[in-house]
Amino acid sequence: MKAAVLWERRTPLKIEEIDLADLEPGDARVKIQASGVCHSDLHHINRETPFKPPLILGHEGAGVVEAVGPGVTSVQPGDRVTIMFGSKCGNCHFCNTGEDYLCTTPLPGYPRFIRKEERFTQLLGVGSFAEYVNVSASNLVKVPEELPIECAALLACGVTTGLGATTSTVNVKPGDTVAVIGVGGVGMNVVQGAALAGASRVIAVDLVERKLELAQQFGATHLVNAGDTDAVQEIKNLTHGRGADYVFEVIGRPETIKQAYDAARNGGTAVVVGLGASDEEVGFNLGELMRSGKAIQGCFYGSVRPHADIPRYIDLYLDGRIKIDQLISRRFKLEQVNEAFDALKAGEVARGVIMYE
Ligand SMILES: [Zn+2]
Ligand SMILES: [Zn+2]
Repeated sequence: MKAAVLWERRTPLKIEEIDLADLEPGDARVKIQASGVCHSDLHHINRETPFKPPLILGHEGAGVVEAVGPGVTSVQPGDRVTIMFGSKCGNCHFCNTGEDYLCTTPLPGYPRFIRKEERFTQLLGVGSFAEYVNVSASNLVKVPEELPIECAALLACGVTTGLGATTSTVNVKPGDTVAVIGVGGVGMNVVQGAALAGASRVIAVDLVERKLELAQQFGATHLVNAGDTDAVQEIKNLTHGRGADYVFEVIGRPETIKQAYDAARNGGTAVVVGLGASDEEVGFNLGELMRSGKAIQGCFYGSVRPHADIPRYIDLYLDGRIKIDQLISRRFKLEQVNEAFDALKAGEVARGVIMYE
C-alpha cells in the first residue's frame, strides 16, 4: 500500500510502497478514505518533535474498518469510523475520570508500518497519510452513514478541538464576549463553537482577509485584520474597553499568546489552543497577573471525551447547526500531499483534505 513518508525534517514527503504489520490484540485496521491536513502535521515536518523520521504523518483521518485484531469487540469490519489521535486507553486515571485527552498510557512501541527491515514512526498513533492504518480500536468512534467521510475526518481533530475549546475546556455562556486569534481550521471551529454557545461578540483576528470573510460565515460578529491594526486595542474597543471574557489563541506563538492574555478582561481567560514549539516560552508581568485575576488555560484536543462528545457534534452537523463542509477549501490526492502543505503554508485553505480511492 502507499503512504507518504517524511524521511528527513524540512524536506518534502515521498510516496512509498510500505506494508502494515499483523494486527496486534486490541488493534483494528482502517482503510483510510479521507485525511485532513492540519497545521500540527506541518509542525512535525519543520520542528524537532518526539516523532522521529522516517515518519508517516496525518492525524485527522476517517475511513472504514477492514479487519480487527484479537479481543476487539467495539468495532467490526465495515464500520465507518473517525480516528482519534493520541492514547485513549479507557483504563488510566484520566480516562476513568472523563479526561481522556490527558490519557497517560504510552502509544504502542511496536511498529505498525514496516518495509523489510525498515520501521516507520506513526504520528500520534494514527499516521493517516497512508491507504491503510493499524490503530487502537479504543481510538475509533463510529460515525453514521449520512455523515460525509471528509466531515468525519475533520471531526478527528479540527472540528472537535475547536468546539471542545469553547464548551469543554472553558464554558462560554450566552452573552459572553469572545475573541479568536488565528482562524485556520481549528480557529474557525472556535468561532462557530462560541457563536453556538451564544456569545454576544465573536471577534475573529487573522492576517488573511479570506479567512476573516469565512469566519463571518461561521458566526464571527467582528473581524480584525491584525496586519492593519493593533489587535489587542481593537478587541478592547469592541468589548467596552475591558477586553474579552475569553480570548482563544489558535496559532501557538509566544507573541500571539501574550496578545491573548493582554486582550482578556480582568478576571477573563486566555485559552491556548495553538500548538507551540517545546523550546519557546512566554513572559507575563507577575504583578499584573496577580492583580488582574486573569487565567491562562491550556487546551489539548478541546478537552473532549471523544466517545461522548463526537456523537453530539455529529448530531449538530446533521441538524444543520454546525458547518463542516464549508471548512474544506480543497481536496487533494495522496500524491499531492506536498501541494496540500504548500496551500496550508500560503494561508490558501481553512482545511485541505486528502481523499483516497
Ligand atoms: Zn490537528
Ligand atoms: Zn487512558
